[in-house]
Amino acid sequence: MSQENKEPSAGKIKAMNQNSQAYSSTVHIIGAGWSGLACAATLAQAGISVQLLEAAPLAGGRARGVQYRKSFPDTLLDNGQHIMLGAYQHTLKLFKQLGIKEQDVLHRQSLNLVLYSPHSPVIRLTAPALPAPWHLMIAMLTFKNISLKDRLKLVLMLVRIRLKKFTLTEDCSVAELLNHYSQSQLLIEALWEPLCLATMNTPIKEASARVFLTVLEKSFNHNRQDSDLLFFKSDLSSVFVNKALSYICQHRGNILFKYRVEKIELQTGPLSSNTFIIRTSKQTITANTLILATPAYIAQKLQGRVFRLKPEQSKLKFTYQPICTVYLQYPEHIKLEQVMTGFFGTLSQWAIDHRINKQPGLIAVVISSSGRHLQLPEEQLVDTIHNELKLVQPDLPFWQDYQVVIEKKATFNCTVNINTIRPSFKTSHKQLFLAGDYTRTPYPATLEGAVISGMQVAQHIIEQRKR
Ligand SMILES: Cc1cc2nc3c(=O)[nH]c(=O)nc-3n(C[C@H](O)[C@H](O)[C@H](O)COP(=O)(O)OP(=O)(O)OC[C@H]3O[C@@H](n4cnc5c(N)ncnc54)[C@H](O)[C@@H]3O)c2cc1C
Repeated sequence: MSQENKEPSAGKIKAMNQNSQAYSSTVHIIGAGWSGLACAATLAQAGISVQLLEAAPLAGGRARGVQYRKSFPDTLLDNGQHIMLGAYQHTLKLFKQLGIKEQDVLHRQSLNLVLYSPHSPVIRLTAPALPAPWHLMIAMLTFKNISLKDRLKLVLMLVRIRLKKFTLTEDCSVAELLNHYSQSQLLIEALWEPLCLATMNTPIKEASARVFLTVLEKSFNHNRQDSDLLFFKSDLSSVFVNKALSYICQHRGNILFKYRVEKIELQTGPLSSNTFIIRTSKQTITANTLILATPAYIAQKLQGRVFRLKPEQSKLKFTYQPICTVYLQYPEHIKLEQVMTGFFGTLSQWAIDHRINKQPGLIAVVISSSGRHLQLPEEQLVDTIHNELKLVQPDLPFWQDYQVVIEKKATFNCTVNINTIRPSFKTSHKQLFLAGDYTRTPYPATLEGAVISGMQVAQHIIEQRKR
């Protein structure tokens, strides 16, 4: 199937092409993050053999379980706290296809937000059991500790964006959108900013209003369950990644770990048949159908020199935003009032109580996007967060253990007009495809976006092969 390390000559490549006839129907996927795994599982289900090439020693990419040895030696934590929404239909469908039962792996909670601040009374938004969007209308009208005037402005905004079908003639920032709908400073700080950071990991002054409206439409406009919050009951590798890998391997697929793809070349054969020569850190592999399921900056580097880029792909200038998760272990009896608690006017943005994953006393605090927290020494950051948690639990004892995880390129910056540079999964070569959260899906960089992109490439290849 392949040659070791050395650059093969043209003669050797010809021989490899002949040897690889048996593999000609195999689809090669570079990257075993959620998009690569979703793609591989969908192809595998359709009886198409797949081979995944993954640079890391583990699958899962930006959403995986990690063993942090110094702290928490007996537990797998995630590389950062993740949550899903009820609207993540493709991910839920994929779980089902892999035999993962929702009730075994996810804790579902209807929309119920509680937000604490050192400068304001506690704010509560509770959605009643009514059909969408009435559940949200009533939640907004009964928003605790928000003035009647602000509640009416909120409802009016929802009515007006619904009338416009959650679309905009021209993209603008989320801050401009909120200003247009006369949202008060308190509503922006206590509701809109935390929501925008949680869903798009981009500050409201930069975030694309168009993408934000799509997220609102998908979460609040169809079924009440779409706005549910879904919390993982275990680490992401146990919940999904390992199950996807077993499924793929049981369906004629395989995965090669520590195979970092360094270069891709195109070899034109007889009758204009094309073969991709994939040079990895270990072997050179040939492929007829290839999917790059890596982050945008890697995909561009790998395909950039060989293939003619489509105009929008040549402009692929993504910037990235970090996400910081601080895991704090308290004595087991410590509980927050809610599984998820919001904060504003603080460094902490959201705190998730891990009692749902049978990790009592473990609290994960998420800080999206850049900010002064990235400049603080670790101990000072942890102390600040510990003190902020006291807003919820005034008699919180001292923490027993902690772990700070900063993912520097957690997501692409979902800025104004971002959709004009997000590429389609198709490239100028009919057997080369892109998958990943950055490709053109309705979502910002999310698990759902990654899964949608992987599934749509797989579906396209399945259709291609039927023809
Ligand atoms: C801390 C954090 C918190 C997040 N929170 C949420 C959340 O709450 N909800 C949500 O929906 N989303 C969240 N996200 C976003 C979500 O994790 C990502 O959108 C999703 O995991 C992206 O998947 P992907 O397959 O597109 O890319 P990736 O996960 O980046 O996968 C790409 C894979 O390609 C591999 N690779 C790269 N280069 C090469 C190479 N040269 N050769 C071979 N392999 C290569 C990588 O090792 C990786 O495994 C969060 C992300 C982070 C980091």
